[in-house]
Amino acid sequence: MDILDILFPKSCVICSKHGDYLCNRCKKLFKKSLPECYICRKISPNYLTHKKCAKISSLDSVAVLWEYNELSSTVLKKYKYGGVLDIEDTFLELIEKRLSEIKESIILGSKTLVSPVPISKNRLRERGFNQTEKIAEVISKELNRTFMTDLIMRKNSDSIHQSLLSKEERLFHKEGFFVPNGNLLKSITDILIIDDVITTGSTLEQITKCIKKVVPKMSVKSICIFRGKPFYKKEREARSLPLNQRN
Ligand SMILES: [Zn+2]
Ligand SMILES: [Zn+2]
Repeated sequence: MDILDILFPKSCVICSKHGDYLCNRCKKLFKKSLPECYICRKISPNYLTHKKCAKISSLDSVAVLWEYNELSSTVLKKYKYGGVLDIEDTFLELIEKRLSEIKESIILGSKTLVSPVPISKNRLRERGFNQTEKIAEVISKELNRTFMTDLIMRKNSDSIHQSLLSKEERLFHKEGFFVPNGNLLKSITDILIIDDVITTGSTLEQITKCIKKVVPKMSVKSICIFRGKPFYKKEREARSLPLNQRN
């Protein structure tokens, strides 16, 4: 046994079982997402945005690996802020394995560049590294595509006191968070953006807009690790619950 394993015995971040940061039983609790259209969230083969849905989005396809829920949010937090005893290797291995199951159904050009959602220089200083960058690197290897950072930069937002701004002003500043690296982007035709979790989707949309300002014909796709379940599934589940358990 490794001396580190004796000094810092590993245990599952979900159920505390000794052995690994994620035990085999808890790994199986990750709920796999189905191929769906990123906008309407109905099933769509190859994760493509439907033609009619593409009117409100400029992303060609968005593939999600798992559902975002209590379990996945715990694992993601441990990965992002875990410190020394983190679950990095276990988590990245899990991503690699899940991606190998679905990669054949993601349509990618042979020259697609894989790029993470950037974080600002201030955030980078705080955290030491960009966690999404490591995920993007693993994904690029599994997909056999070139990995590249710095295609888009994120401005520091610290100078803006968010609470003092109106809703419209906040939105304006948010849109202005990304800056394209024009010289690099002009030599590229396909980009795959990697993000850890989709909430509103506004980050991906802003990045896509920012890229298309420089290269309007760029094909922009994305792989995200987690996303909450679609609203229509939530409704269906709520309807199947006994009345006293509905909220
Ligand atoms: Zn466990
Ligand atoms: Zn759709």
